[in-house]
Amino acid sequence: MQIYDGLPASFDPDAYDMIVVGAGYAGAVCARRLAETAGFRVAVLERRGHIAGNAYDFVNDAGILVHEYGPHIYHTTDDRVHEFLSRFTEWTDYQHKVLANIHGTLVPVPFNHTSLKLAFGDKRGEELYAKLVDVFGQNKKVPIMDLREKNDPDLAEVADYVYENVFLYYTMKQWGQTPDEIDPSVTGRVPVFIGDDDRYFPGATHQGMPAEGYTKLFEHMLNHDLIDVFVNVDARSIIEMDENTVKLCGHVYGGEVVYTGPLDELFGLDLGALPYRTLDMRFETLDVDQFQPVATVNYTTSEDFTRITEFKLMTGQVVPGKTTVMREYSKAYTPGSGETPYYAILDPENTELYQRYRARVEDVTNFHLVGRLAEYRYYDMDAVVDSALTLSDELISCHS
Ligand code: FAD
Ligand code: UDP
Repeated sequence: MQIYDGLPASFDPDAYDMIVVGAGYAGAVCARRLAETAGFRVAVLERRGHIAGNAYDFVNDAGILVHEYGPHIYHTTDDRVHEFLSRFTEWTDYQHKVLANIHGTLVPVPFNHTSLKLAFGDKRGEELYAKLVDVFGQNKKVPIMDLREKNDPDLAEVADYVYENVFLYYTMKQWGQTPDEIDPSVTGRVPVFIGDDDRYFPGATHQGMPAEGYTKLFEHMLNHDLIDVFVNVDARSIIEMDENTVKLCGHVYGGEVVYTGPLDELFGLDLGALPYRTLDMRFETLDVDQFQPVATVNYTTSEDFTRITEFKLMTGQVVPGKTTVMREYSKAYTPGSGETPYYAILDPENTELYQRYRARVEDVTNFHLVGRLAEYRYYDMDAVVDSALTLSDELISCHS
Protein backbone atom coordinates (compact mmCIF):
# COMPACT_ATOMS: atom_id res chain seq x y z
CA MET A 1 0.00 0.00 0.00
CA GLN A 2 1.08 3.53 -0.76
CA ILE A 3 -0.64 6.49 0.94
CA TYR A 4 -0.54 9.68 -1.12
CA ASP A 5 -1.53 13.12 0.12
CA GLY A 6 -3.81 14.55 -2.57
CA LEU A 7 -4.40 13.35 -6.10
CA PRO A 8 -1.43 13.76 -8.43
CA ALA A 9 -2.10 15.61 -11.71
CA SER A 10 -1.09 12.40 -13.48
CA PHE A 11 -3.84 10.36 -11.75
CA ASP A 12 -5.38 8.03 -14.30
CA PRO A 13 -8.49 6.11 -13.13
CA ASP A 14 -7.98 3.63 -15.98
CA ALA A 15 -4.79 2.45 -14.30
CA TYR A 16 -7.11 0.88 -11.67
CA ASP A 17 -9.73 -1.86 -11.89
CA MET A 18 -11.71 -0.35 -9.04
CA ILE A 19 -12.09 3.08 -7.44
CA VAL A 20 -13.27 3.13 -3.83
CA VAL A 21 -14.63 6.33 -2.30
CA GLY A 22 -14.02 6.37 1.46
CA ALA A 23 -11.43 4.60 3.60
CA GLY A 24 -13.78 3.49 6.40
CA TYR A 25 -14.85 -0.13 6.96
CA ALA A 26 -17.08 -0.24 3.88
CA GLY A 27 -14.36 0.95 1.52
CA ALA A 28 -11.37 -0.77 3.12
CA VAL A 29 -13.05 -4.20 3.23
CA CYS A 30 -14.00 -4.01 -0.47
CA ALA A 31 -10.53 -2.77 -1.44
CA ARG A 32 -8.77 -5.57 0.41
CA ARG A 33 -11.01 -8.35 -0.83
CA LEU A 34 -10.96 -7.36 -4.48
CA ALA A 35 -7.19 -6.83 -4.42
CA GLU A 36 -6.37 -10.15 -2.82
CA THR A 37 -9.10 -12.32 -4.35
CA ALA A 38 -9.64 -10.88 -7.82
CA GLY A 39 -6.18 -9.35 -8.35
CA PHE A 40 -7.75 -5.89 -8.82
CA ARG A 41 -5.62 -2.77 -8.75
CA VAL A 42 -7.55 -0.51 -6.38
CA ALA A 43 -7.42 3.25 -5.68
CA VAL A 44 -9.07 4.38 -2.43
CA LEU A 45 -9.98 8.09 -2.33
CA GLU A 46 -10.57 9.57 1.13
CA ARG A 47 -11.46 13.17 1.78
CA ARG A 48 -10.20 13.24 5.34
CA GLY A 49 -6.47 13.35 6.05
CA HIS A 50 -6.50 9.79 7.43
CA ILE A 51 -7.84 6.27 6.92
CA ALA A 52 -10.30 4.32 9.18
CA GLY A 53 -13.39 6.51 8.70
CA ASN A 54 -15.28 7.17 11.91
CA ALA A 55 -13.34 4.41 13.68
CA TYR A 56 -10.13 6.50 13.45
CA ASP A 57 -8.09 6.65 16.67
CA PHE A 58 -4.82 8.36 17.52
CA VAL A 59 -2.53 9.04 20.48
CA ASN A 60 -3.15 12.56 21.82
CA ASP A 61 -0.63 14.98 23.37
CA ALA A 62 -1.07 13.33 26.78
CA GLY A 63 -0.08 9.96 25.28
CA ILE A 64 -3.63 8.56 25.46
CA LEU A 65 -5.24 6.64 22.59
CA VAL A 66 -8.53 8.40 21.83
CA HIS A 67 -11.32 8.00 19.28
CA GLU A 68 -11.69 11.20 17.29
CA TYR A 69 -15.27 10.50 16.16
CA GLY A 70 -16.81 8.95 19.26
CA PRO A 71 -16.27 5.82 21.35
CA HIS A 72 -16.06 2.64 19.26
CA ILE A 73 -16.48 -0.76 20.90
CA TYR A 74 -16.25 -3.79 18.69
CA HIS A 75 -18.97 -6.42 19.20
CA THR A 76 -20.55 -9.00 16.93
CA THR A 77 -22.29 -12.33 16.72
CA ASP A 78 -21.17 -12.78 13.11
CA ASP A 79 -18.36 -15.35 12.86
CA ARG A 80 -17.44 -14.45 9.29
CA VAL A 81 -17.03 -10.76 10.15
CA HIS A 82 -14.97 -11.68 13.18
CA GLU A 83 -12.69 -14.04 11.27
CA PHE A 84 -12.13 -11.45 8.55
CA LEU A 85 -11.24 -8.61 10.93
CA SER A 86 -9.10 -10.90 13.10
CA ARG A 87 -6.68 -11.25 10.17
CA PHE A 88 -5.67 -7.63 10.77
CA THR A 89 -5.61 -7.31 14.55
CA GLU A 90 -5.36 -9.08 17.88
CA TRP A 91 -8.16 -8.23 20.32
CA THR A 92 -8.07 -7.27 23.97
CA ASP A 93 -10.82 -8.87 26.03
CA TYR A 94 -12.82 -5.73 26.84
CA GLN A 95 -16.47 -6.10 27.86
CA HIS A 96 -18.23 -2.75 27.56
CA LYS A 97 -20.29 -1.60 30.57
CA VAL A 98 -22.34 1.56 30.79
CA LEU A 99 -23.91 3.24 33.79
CA ALA A 100 -26.76 5.73 33.56
CA ASN A 101 -26.56 8.69 35.89
CA ILE A 102 -30.18 8.92 37.08
CA HIS A 103 -30.49 11.94 39.37
CA GLY A 104 -27.02 11.19 40.72
CA THR A 105 -27.39 7.42 41.16
CA LEU A 106 -25.36 5.24 38.81
CA VAL A 107 -27.50 2.42 37.41
CA PRO A 108 -26.49 -0.26 34.85
CA VAL A 109 -27.76 0.21 31.28
CA PRO A 110 -29.26 -1.80 29.61
CA PHE A 111 -31.63 -1.63 32.54
CA ASN A 112 -31.33 -5.05 34.28
CA HIS A 113 -31.93 -6.95 37.54
CA THR A 114 -29.40 -4.79 39.42
CA SER A 115 -30.91 -1.61 37.98
CA LEU A 116 -34.38 -2.64 39.18
CA LYS A 117 -33.14 -3.06 42.76
CA LEU A 118 -31.27 0.26 42.66
CA ALA A 119 -34.32 2.06 41.28
CA PHE A 120 -37.10 0.44 43.34
CA GLY A 121 -35.29 -0.88 46.42
CA ASP A 122 -34.41 -4.54 47.02
CA LYS A 123 -37.88 -5.79 47.95
CA ARG A 124 -39.97 -4.10 45.26
CA GLY A 125 -37.15 -4.59 42.74
CA GLU A 126 -37.21 -8.37 43.31
CA GLU A 127 -41.02 -8.45 43.00
CA LEU A 128 -40.89 -6.59 39.70
CA TYR A 129 -38.03 -8.76 38.48
CA ALA A 130 -40.02 -11.91 39.28
CA LYS A 131 -42.90 -10.50 37.24
CA LEU A 132 -40.66 -9.74 34.27
CA VAL A 133 -39.18 -13.25 34.39
CA ASP A 134 -42.67 -14.67 34.59
CA VAL A 135 -43.93 -12.77 31.55
CA PHE A 136 -40.86 -12.71 29.30
CA GLY A 137 -38.47 -15.36 30.69
CA GLN A 138 -34.94 -15.07 32.05
CA ASN A 139 -32.08 -13.56 30.03
CA LYS A 140 -34.52 -12.04 27.56
CA LYS A 141 -34.23 -8.59 25.96
CA VAL A 142 -37.36 -6.44 25.85
CA PRO A 143 -37.35 -3.14 23.93
CA ILE A 144 -38.76 -0.31 26.03
CA MET A 145 -41.43 0.46 23.41
CA ASP A 146 -42.67 -3.15 23.64
CA LEU A 147 -42.65 -3.08 27.44
CA ARG A 148 -44.77 0.08 27.39
CA GLU A 149 -47.47 -1.70 25.43
CA LYS A 150 -48.08 -4.36 28.11
CA ASN A 151 -51.31 -3.86 29.95
CA ASP A 152 -50.21 -4.83 33.45
CA PRO A 153 -49.72 -2.50 36.42
CA ASP A 154 -46.36 -3.98 37.52
CA LEU A 155 -44.94 -3.93 34.01
CA ALA A 156 -46.30 -0.41 33.51
CA GLU A 157 -44.48 0.66 36.68
CA VAL A 158 -41.18 -0.61 35.28
CA ALA A 159 -41.87 0.71 31.77
CA ASP A 160 -42.81 4.18 33.01
CA TYR A 161 -39.73 4.39 35.20
CA VAL A 162 -37.33 3.26 32.48
CA TYR A 163 -39.00 5.43 29.84
CA GLU A 164 -38.88 8.54 32.02
CA ASN A 165 -35.46 8.04 33.57
CA VAL A 166 -33.38 6.24 30.95
CA PHE A 167 -34.86 7.05 27.55
CA LEU A 168 -36.85 10.27 27.48
CA TYR A 169 -34.31 12.98 28.23
CA TYR A 170 -31.35 11.18 26.63
CA THR A 171 -33.33 10.60 23.43
CA MET A 172 -34.49 14.23 23.38
CA LYS A 173 -30.86 15.32 23.59
CA GLN A 174 -29.66 12.81 21.00
CA TRP A 175 -32.45 13.13 18.44
CA GLY A 176 -34.43 16.26 19.34
CA GLN A 177 -37.49 13.96 19.50
CA THR A 178 -39.13 11.74 22.11
CA PRO A 179 -38.71 7.96 22.07
CA ASP A 180 -42.30 7.65 20.74
CA GLU A 181 -41.43 9.83 17.78
CA ILE A 182 -38.29 8.06 16.59
CA ASP A 183 -37.97 4.71 14.83
CA PRO A 184 -38.45 1.94 17.46
CA SER A 185 -35.36 0.12 16.18
CA VAL A 186 -33.24 2.94 17.65
CA THR A 187 -34.32 2.59 21.28
CA GLY A 188 -34.55 -1.16 20.60
CA ARG A 189 -30.73 -1.16 20.41
CA VAL A 190 -30.69 -0.86 24.21
CA PRO A 191 -33.49 -3.18 25.41
CA VAL A 192 -34.33 -3.86 29.05
CA PHE A 193 -32.38 -6.99 29.98
CA ILE A 194 -34.10 -9.51 32.23
CA GLY A 195 -31.03 -10.94 33.89
CA ASP A 196 -27.82 -10.08 35.71
CA ASP A 197 -25.49 -9.62 32.76
CA ASP A 198 -24.44 -5.98 33.06
CA ARG A 199 -22.59 -5.68 29.77
CA TYR A 200 -23.85 -3.14 27.19
CA PHE A 201 -23.89 -5.84 24.51
CA PRO A 202 -25.15 -8.96 26.29
CA GLY A 203 -25.11 -11.83 23.85
CA ALA A 204 -22.27 -10.57 21.65
CA THR A 205 -20.19 -13.69 21.01
CA HIS A 206 -17.15 -11.63 20.07
CA GLN A 207 -16.38 -8.42 21.88
CA GLY A 208 -13.22 -6.44 22.52
CA MET A 209 -10.92 -3.71 21.32
CA PRO A 210 -8.27 -3.97 18.61
CA ALA A 211 -5.04 -4.45 20.58
CA GLU A 212 -3.14 -1.68 18.76
CA GLY A 213 -6.20 0.44 17.98
CA TYR A 214 -8.53 0.80 15.00
CA THR A 215 -6.23 2.86 12.79
CA LYS A 216 -3.60 0.12 12.96
CA LEU A 217 -6.27 -2.45 12.04
CA PHE A 218 -7.01 -0.38 8.92
CA GLU A 219 -3.31 0.04 8.10
CA HIS A 220 -3.00 -3.74 8.08
CA MET A 221 -6.19 -4.23 6.07
CA LEU A 222 -5.16 -1.73 3.39
CA ASN A 223 -1.57 -2.94 3.32
CA HIS A 224 -1.58 -4.76 -0.02
CA ASP A 225 0.63 -4.24 -3.08
CA LEU A 226 -2.36 -3.63 -5.33
CA ILE A 227 -3.95 -0.92 -3.14
CA ASP A 228 -3.13 2.80 -3.35
CA VAL A 229 -4.75 5.21 -0.90
CA PHE A 230 -5.16 8.92 -1.63
CA VAL A 231 -6.11 11.03 1.41
CA ASN A 232 -7.33 14.64 1.38
CA VAL A 233 -9.16 13.89 -1.86
CA ASP A 234 -12.85 14.65 -2.26
CA ALA A 235 -14.00 12.21 -4.92
CA ARG A 236 -16.78 14.57 -5.99
CA SER A 237 -14.10 16.59 -7.76
CA ILE A 238 -13.63 13.76 -10.27
CA ILE A 239 -16.98 11.89 -10.31
CA GLU A 240 -19.93 12.66 -12.54
CA MET A 241 -23.02 10.48 -12.73
CA ASP A 242 -25.42 10.15 -15.59
CA GLU A 243 -28.26 7.69 -16.20
CA ASN A 244 -26.20 4.71 -17.23
CA THR A 245 -22.57 5.57 -16.70
CA VAL A 246 -20.17 6.98 -14.20
CA LYS A 247 -17.50 9.36 -15.44
CA LEU A 248 -14.18 9.81 -13.67
CA CYS A 249 -11.93 12.73 -14.61
CA GLY A 250 -14.28 13.49 -17.50
CA HIS A 251 -14.23 10.01 -19.11
CA VAL A 252 -16.67 7.11 -18.87
CA TYR A 253 -15.09 4.66 -16.43
CA GLY A 254 -15.24 0.94 -17.21
CA GLY A 255 -14.00 -0.42 -13.89
CA GLU A 256 -16.00 -0.84 -10.68
CA VAL A 257 -16.77 2.10 -8.39
CA VAL A 258 -17.57 1.51 -4.71
CA TYR A 259 -19.05 4.63 -3.11
CA THR A 260 -19.33 4.85 0.70
CA GLY A 261 -20.14 8.57 1.18
CA PRO A 262 -23.51 10.31 1.56
CA LEU A 263 -25.61 9.68 -1.54
CA ASP A 264 -27.32 13.09 -1.65
CA GLU A 265 -23.92 14.84 -1.84
CA LEU A 266 -23.15 13.07 -5.09
CA PHE A 267 -26.06 14.91 -6.69
CA GLY A 268 -25.47 18.28 -5.05
CA LEU A 269 -28.48 17.63 -2.75
CA ASP A 270 -30.73 18.52 -5.69
CA LEU A 271 -33.70 16.51 -4.36
CA GLY A 272 -33.13 17.96 -0.87
CA ALA A 273 -30.70 17.06 1.89
CA LEU A 274 -30.91 13.70 3.65
CA PRO A 275 -31.31 14.58 7.35
CA TYR A 276 -28.67 13.54 9.87
CA ARG A 277 -27.67 14.26 13.45
CA THR A 278 -24.14 15.37 14.11
CA LEU A 279 -22.12 15.53 17.33
CA ASP A 280 -19.74 17.99 18.94
CA MET A 281 -17.12 15.90 20.71
CA ARG A 282 -15.44 17.83 23.51
CA PHE A 283 -12.23 16.25 24.78
CA GLU A 284 -10.62 17.06 28.11
CA THR A 285 -7.44 15.68 29.66
CA LEU A 286 -7.37 15.60 33.45
CA ASP A 287 -4.50 15.10 35.88
CA VAL A 288 -6.05 12.09 37.62
CA ASP A 289 -5.65 8.32 37.18
CA GLN A 290 -9.35 7.69 36.69
CA PHE A 291 -12.39 9.97 36.27
CA GLN A 292 -15.40 7.63 36.41
CA PRO A 293 -16.12 4.00 37.37
CA VAL A 294 -16.76 2.61 33.86
CA ALA A 295 -15.76 3.65 30.32
CA THR A 296 -19.10 5.30 29.52
CA VAL A 297 -21.59 7.07 31.76
CA ASN A 298 -24.87 8.14 30.13
CA TYR A 299 -26.51 11.26 31.53
CA THR A 300 -30.13 10.30 31.24
CA THR A 301 -31.83 12.89 33.46
CA SER A 302 -29.46 15.88 33.49
CA GLU A 303 -26.76 17.81 31.55
CA ASP A 304 -26.72 19.02 27.93
CA PHE A 305 -24.38 16.30 26.73
CA THR A 306 -25.51 12.69 26.31
CA ARG A 307 -22.55 10.74 27.66
CA ILE A 308 -18.98 10.90 28.95
CA THR A 309 -16.46 8.35 27.74
CA GLU A 310 -13.09 7.75 29.38
CA PHE A 311 -10.85 6.15 26.78
CA LYS A 312 -8.26 4.44 28.99
CA LEU A 313 -11.02 2.34 30.55
CA MET A 314 -11.94 0.94 27.11
CA THR A 315 -8.50 0.44 25.67
CA GLY A 316 -6.89 -0.80 28.90
CA GLN A 317 -3.99 1.59 28.28
CA VAL A 318 -1.95 2.36 31.43
CA VAL A 319 -1.00 6.06 31.72
CA PRO A 320 -0.56 7.01 35.38
CA GLY A 321 -1.74 10.44 36.52
CA LYS A 322 -3.55 11.40 33.31
CA THR A 323 -6.82 10.50 31.68
CA THR A 324 -8.78 11.83 28.67
CA VAL A 325 -12.57 12.05 28.71
CA MET A 326 -14.99 13.13 26.00
CA ARG A 327 -18.49 14.60 26.18
CA GLU A 328 -20.88 14.24 23.23
CA TYR A 329 -23.30 17.04 22.33
CA SER A 330 -25.82 16.15 19.64
CA LYS A 331 -27.47 18.56 17.20
CA ALA A 332 -29.06 18.72 13.74
CA TYR A 333 -26.54 18.36 10.92
CA THR A 334 -26.17 21.24 8.46
CA PRO A 335 -25.07 20.07 5.00
CA GLY A 336 -22.08 21.94 3.61
CA SER A 337 -21.04 23.24 7.04
CA GLY A 338 -18.09 20.91 7.43
CA GLU A 339 -19.92 18.97 10.15
CA THR A 340 -19.88 15.16 10.08
CA PRO A 341 -23.18 13.38 9.29
CA TYR A 342 -23.03 10.79 12.09
CA TYR A 343 -26.56 9.41 12.42
CA ALA A 344 -29.15 8.95 9.67
CA ILE A 345 -32.59 9.95 10.95
CA LEU A 346 -34.71 6.94 10.11
CA ASP A 347 -38.31 7.72 9.21
CA PRO A 348 -40.55 6.95 6.21
CA GLU A 349 -40.12 10.38 4.62
CA ASN A 350 -36.31 10.28 4.78
CA THR A 351 -36.22 6.69 3.57
CA GLU A 352 -38.35 7.68 0.61
CA LEU A 353 -36.00 10.54 -0.24
CA TYR A 354 -33.05 8.19 0.03
CA GLN A 355 -34.75 5.73 -2.34
CA ARG A 356 -35.29 8.49 -4.90
CA TYR A 357 -31.56 9.22 -4.89
CA ARG A 358 -30.80 5.53 -4.99
CA ALA A 359 -33.03 4.99 -8.02
CA ARG A 360 -30.74 7.34 -9.96
CA VAL A 361 -27.74 5.00 -9.67
CA GLU A 362 -29.63 1.73 -10.04
CA ASP A 363 -28.92 1.48 -13.79
CA VAL A 364 -25.25 2.30 -13.45
CA THR A 365 -24.20 -1.32 -13.19
CA ASN A 366 -20.56 -0.66 -12.21
CA PHE A 367 -21.48 1.77 -9.41
CA HIS A 368 -22.07 0.30 -5.93
CA LEU A 369 -23.30 1.81 -2.67
CA VAL A 370 -22.17 0.35 0.64
CA GLY A 371 -21.84 1.52 4.24
CA ARG A 372 -23.57 3.54 6.90
CA LEU A 373 -23.68 6.74 4.82
CA ALA A 374 -24.20 5.35 1.33
CA GLU A 375 -26.97 3.01 2.50
CA TYR A 376 -28.43 5.62 4.91
CA ARG A 377 -28.54 3.05 7.74
CA TYR A 378 -27.83 2.92 11.48
CA TYR A 379 -25.12 0.29 11.06
CA ASP A 380 -22.64 -0.82 13.70
CA MET A 381 -19.13 -1.67 12.52
CA ASP A 382 -19.86 -5.38 12.16
CA ALA A 383 -22.96 -4.71 10.03
CA VAL A 384 -20.91 -2.52 7.69
CA VAL A 385 -18.24 -5.20 7.39
CA ASP A 386 -20.96 -7.76 6.66
CA SER A 387 -22.49 -5.55 3.98
CA ALA A 388 -19.05 -4.94 2.40
CA LEU A 389 -18.21 -8.66 2.46
CA THR A 390 -21.49 -9.38 0.66
CA LEU A 391 -20.83 -6.74 -2.02
CA SER A 392 -17.26 -8.03 -2.42
CA ASP A 393 -18.57 -11.58 -2.91
CA GLU A 394 -20.84 -10.32 -5.71
CA LEU A 395 -18.04 -8.38 -7.42
CA ILE A 396 -15.61 -11.28 -7.10
CA SER A 397 -18.10 -13.70 -8.61
CA CYS A 398 -18.79 -11.27 -11.52
CA HIS A 399 -15.08 -11.11 -12.30
CA SER A 400 -14.06 -14.73 -11.88
P1 FAD B 1 -17.42 5.85 7.61
O1 FAD B 1 -16.62 5.30 8.74
O2 FAD B 1 -18.17 7.12 7.80
O3 FAD B 1 -16.44 5.99 6.34
C1 FAD B 1 -16.84 6.65 5.17
C2 FAD B 1 -15.64 7.45 4.69
O4 FAD B 1 -15.96 8.02 3.41
C3 FAD B 1 -15.31 8.62 5.61
O5 FAD B 1 -13.96 8.52 6.05
C4 FAD B 1 -15.53 9.84 4.74
O6 FAD B 1 -14.59 10.88 4.99
C5 FAD B 1 -15.35 9.27 3.34
N1 FAD B 1 -16.03 10.05 2.30
C6 FAD B 1 -17.32 10.44 2.28
N2 FAD B 1 -17.57 11.15 1.16
C7 FAD B 1 -16.40 11.19 0.46
C8 FAD B 1 -16.02 11.78 -0.76
N3 FAD B 1 -16.87 12.51 -1.50
N4 FAD B 1 -14.75 11.63 -1.19
C9 FAD B 1 -13.85 10.93 -0.46
N5 FAD B 1 -14.16 10.37 0.73
C10 FAD B 1 -15.43 10.48 1.18
N6 FAD B 1 -20.12 0.86 15.77
C11 FAD B 1 -19.84 -0.19 16.58
O7 FAD B 1 -19.83 -1.35 16.12
N7 FAD B 1 -19.53 0.00 17.90
C12 FAD B 1 -19.50 1.24 18.46
O8 FAD B 1 -19.23 1.38 19.66
C13 FAD B 1 -19.79 2.37 17.63
N8 FAD B 1 -19.78 3.61 18.15
C14 FAD B 1 -20.09 4.67 17.35
C15 FAD B 1 -20.12 5.94 17.92
C16 FAD B 1 -20.46 7.02 17.15
C17 FAD B 1 -20.50 8.40 17.77
C18 FAD B 1 -20.77 6.84 15.77
C19 FAD B 1 -21.14 8.02 14.92
C20 FAD B 1 -20.75 5.59 15.20
C21 FAD B 1 -20.42 4.49 15.99
N9 FAD B 1 -20.37 3.20 15.45
C22 FAD B 1 -20.10 2.14 16.26
C23 FAD B 1 -20.68 2.96 14.02
C24 FAD B 1 -19.42 2.96 13.14
O9 FAD B 1 -18.77 4.21 13.22
C25 FAD B 1 -19.84 2.72 11.70
O10 FAD B 1 -20.60 1.54 11.58
C26 FAD B 1 -18.66 2.58 10.74
O11 FAD B 1 -17.59 3.43 11.04
C27 FAD B 1 -19.18 2.90 9.34
O12 FAD B 1 -18.20 2.64 8.38
P2 FAD B 1 -18.41 3.20 6.91
O13 FAD B 1 -17.22 2.81 6.13
O14 FAD B 1 -19.74 2.82 6.41
O15 FAD B 1 -18.49 4.80 7.09
N1 UDP C 1 -30.83 5.50 24.67
C1 UDP C 1 -31.34 6.23 25.71
N2 UDP C 1 -30.71 6.18 26.91
C2 UDP C 1 -29.60 5.45 27.12
C3 UDP C 1 -29.06 4.73 26.05
C4 UDP C 1 -29.69 4.78 24.83
O1 UDP C 1 -32.34 6.92 25.55
O2 UDP C 1 -29.05 5.47 28.25
C5 UDP C 1 -31.54 5.53 23.37
C6 UDP C 1 -31.22 6.81 22.57
O3 UDP C 1 -32.35 7.14 21.80
C7 UDP C 1 -30.06 6.34 21.72
C8 UDP C 1 -30.50 4.93 21.36
O4 UDP C 1 -31.13 4.44 22.56
O5 UDP C 1 -29.88 7.17 20.59
C9 UDP C 1 -29.42 3.99 20.94
O6 UDP C 1 -28.40 3.98 21.91
P1 UDP C 1 -26.92 3.51 21.56
O7 UDP C 1 -26.13 3.52 22.81
O8 UDP C 1 -26.98 2.26 20.80
O9 UDP C 1 -26.43 4.69 20.59
P2 UDP C 1 -25.04 4.98 19.87
O10 UDP C 1 -23.96 4.35 20.69
O11 UDP C 1 -25.17 4.40 18.50
O12 UDP C 1 -24.97 6.48 19.85
